[in-house]
Amino acid sequence: MSSGTDTHAFQADVARLLHLMVHSIYSDRDIFLRELISNAADACEKLRYEAVSNADLMSDGAAPAIRISIDKPGKTLTIEDNGIGMSRDDLVQALGTIANSGTRAFLEKMSPAADAVEDREIDGGGGSAAKLIGQFGIGFYSAFMVADRVDVQTRRAGENEAWNWSSDGKGSYTIAPLDLDSAPARGTRVVLHMNEQSQDYLESWRLQSIVKEHSGAVSVPVELKDDDAAEPRRIVEGSAIWLKSRGDISENDYKEFYRGFAGQFDEPAMTVHWKAEGRYEYTVLAFVPGSRPMDLFDPARKGRTKLYVRSVLITADSDLLPGWLRFFRVLVDSADLPLNVSREMIQNSPVFGAIRKAIVNRLVQELGKTADSDPEGFAKIWENFGPVLKEGLYEDPERRDQLFKIGRFVTSTHPDGGRSLAQYVADLRPNQTAIYYLTGEDAKNLAISPQLEGFRARGVEVLLLADPVDAFWVSTAVGYDGKPFRSVTQGAADIKLIPMADGKEAPSSEAPSAEVATLIAFIKQTIGEAIEDARPSDRLSSSAACLVASDKGPDRRLAQILAQHGQLPAEAKPVLEINPTHPLVTALAARLRGGESKTLIEDAAWLIHDEARLMDGEKLADVGAFSARLTRVLQAAAG
Ligand code: ADP
Ligand code: MG
Repeated sequence: MSSGTDTHAFQADVARLLHLMVHSIYSDRDIFLRELISNAADACEKLRYEAVSNADLMSDGAAPAIRISIDKPGKTLTIEDNGIGMSRDDLVQALGTIANSGTRAFLEKMSPAADAVEDREIDGGGGSAAKLIGQFGIGFYSAFMVADRVDVQTRRAGENEAWNWSSDGKGSYTIAPLDLDSAPARGTRVVLHMNEQSQDYLESWRLQSIVKEHSGAVSVPVELKDDDAAEPRRIVEGSAIWLKSRGDISENDYKEFYRGFAGQFDEPAMTVHWKAEGRYEYTVLAFVPGSRPMDLFDPARKGRTKLYVRSVLITADSDLLPGWLRFFRVLVDSADLPLNVSREMIQNSPVFGAIRKAIVNRLVQELGKTADSDPEGFAKIWENFGPVLKEGLYEDPERRDQLFKIGRFVTSTHPDGGRSLAQYVADLRPNQTAIYYLTGEDAKNLAISPQLEGFRARGVEVLLLADPVDAFWVSTAVGYDGKPFRSVTQGAADIKLIPMADGKEAPSSEAPSAEVATLIAFIKQTIGEAIEDARPSDRLSSSAACLVASDKGPDRRLAQILAQHGQLPAEAKPVLEINPTHPLVTALAARLRGGESKTLIEDAAWLIHDEARLMDGEKLADVGAFSARLTRVLQAAAG
């Protein structure tokens, strides 16, 4: 090792990550090329940005370019750019540590497999791991899938020193100073010493087809230089796709560009491309991914909204979109923003604010259009991103009505989902004045809730809301189309005036028999503190009892969520509703009047209460007492 060479250990996680990548991702090795080309293109864009305030950096007049060179005898493949380059510190930061949250999430995702990987042969599938790489922005390390050793020779634009980073990807890397003569004039040269299994990447036809397929829409030209050729050939033209007119862009161009830009391996579920020419001029290219990005619910996740000013990349994670549109991948290029001020100042400018607002508006409109014109396609978008969009319902009340138009719901009468609120309202039953909903953790459990029975018997549709965000928006939204939202687990059911679906007369809870009234009073007294009240129910038909929230305060689900966070107001106890015509209830009432042992009826009261709690997805606080009561009652029944 020459003097001045430092050896560094990778941060522990990196070594594990490299091991994982090399051993579990075999089927899609091609992607290393795309990752390195996209890094080279990023470096060129960073240089363009810095050159805005420091023109000297590009004073040599060399246009940004990426060159791939093949050296068959030397068994190396080199990817070189004349972009920003890296200082020594940059190298340590960028290629020696993995500190961003996405990478941590990646490792967590992979960690169950991490131990197994030691003794497992190469995971033939591999595809899913490959999918993760791009999404977590750790693309550089994919080089070790094809190379035994990677050298990174780099010189930061404007600096008078150059460095050689080198690693076999097994646990450490070295950094040594590099002669300026053998370094790029500026930028980075990544030299891959191809491993045995990867020699076929040294064929130019193979490289060309991979580059065209995976990097065809990159914003910097790509050249390929073969061993024996004197001059490189340009294989990708490298013009900004978003500035072309739509007619000149093929479906496939959009798709390729989307993959590189969004770090996704799927196809976009929606592509929108427009040029605004009113008060401000700007171009927008936006995609909805075909599947959920891994980090969709990671609070620290960085956006992928690129902001360009006159084709200079200002930032790759602009705060263009509100959180509830974070699944979009958006690129904006504007001529109306100032180019010579800081990123922050650009994003704080009133012009940016106006553009931002117009874009959000348009994107929501476009979602609405797709919902109308392509219900099936939209169903997928909603399935993936509905829970995120619904955050907008309480975060952004101004957009609520717009969002209500595109919302699609699973309901008690449409268990496969896809119901819009407009459809719901069009199908209201006679005398129905509210939009009924039930919130919970799991749509399947919701569908069998006893609280729904009376609604079902009347043919009343109930929205089944199973996302955590639902409990919040639904309790703050005033209503839709003049109809208030009402929880089926809150207050008196209020459905007496709605006719039964089978045309028969509704069972009445109005005046239960004196016997049943006495039983209900007895139950209330027995349960005592744990409930606010016990009362006869309108909403039950086949179940004996259920719990509902009192008329005031949050509904059952929201009360549960608040209680978990220690925020439940003390008065929010549930009401136990009893089905006055249920055979169990009438039989117990008769026994109570007949002077039956109080213990049996007390046990029954508690068991009815506990069962209602279980049906609500709650845990029993005192399993011992529950079990003792159940045994006593069964014994009495058996005896
Ligand atoms: P990402 O591109 O998502 O940041 P990578 O693992 O692909 O993740 O690259 C890590 C970092 O290494 C980049 O963010 C960049 O700072 C640096 N880097 C990689 N390749 C180059 C290059 N050709 N020129 C300059 N910097 C580079
Ligand atoms: Mg990268």
